[in-house]
Amino acid sequence: MAILRAGRLEVLTTAGPDEEILELARMAGRWGTVAINAPLNRPLGRCCLDDDCVCRTDPGTRSRHLERELARMGVPALATALIKILARRGIRLADALKAEGYEPLEVYPFATLKLLGLPWRAKRTAAGRRRIRRALKPLVPGFERQHACEHQLDAIVCALTASLWRQRRTRGVGLPEEGVMTIPDPDLCGGLRGPGLGG
Ligand SMILES: [Zn+2]
Repeated sequence: MAILRAGRLEVLTTAGPDEEILELARMAGRWGTVAINAPLNRPLGRCCLDDDCVCRTDPGTRSRHLERELARMGVPALATALIKILARRGIRLADALKAEGYEPLEVYPFATLKLLGLPWRAKRTAAGRRRIRRALKPLVPGFERQHACEHQLDAIVCALTASLWRQRRTRGVGLPEEGVMTIPDPDLCGGLRGPGLGG
């Protein structure tokens, strides 16, 4: 998990159970924006994500509109029903956050990096992480010396996406009645490779 305040990295950590995640989200404050890298809703027509439920009619109800739209943009994403453990957790966390007055954003670090023209390859290797880290540093003040694992790099990119959303430099993909993912709008993110992102 990463918390940016006024664009600056304040917390970079790892959380376990849901309650720990919610506790950290609350640190962002009542007017904070929470961005989550997981599906936050089910495909239209699905009452659950169980394989043996009658609501499943493959392939139509495996993915959401937003995943198909991303694929057309050259940003492949796994269908919601194929990452059901993550999706169930995302939905559960989003519900808990909504109950506290937050409007969590669904984000996707791979999409953010790719659409911003930043390195995204090989984040499971030290060299890949070094490249991503070098690209993020000027965008995220405060991210200097800390060690960041693959998931923490993702968290920073999620927080950066939330920061762009607050600056109205993002757009949504997907259907409002089903679920929308927040991605950077490259037209509104020119000059992002320099410092002073703020927000
Ligand atoms: Zn069902």
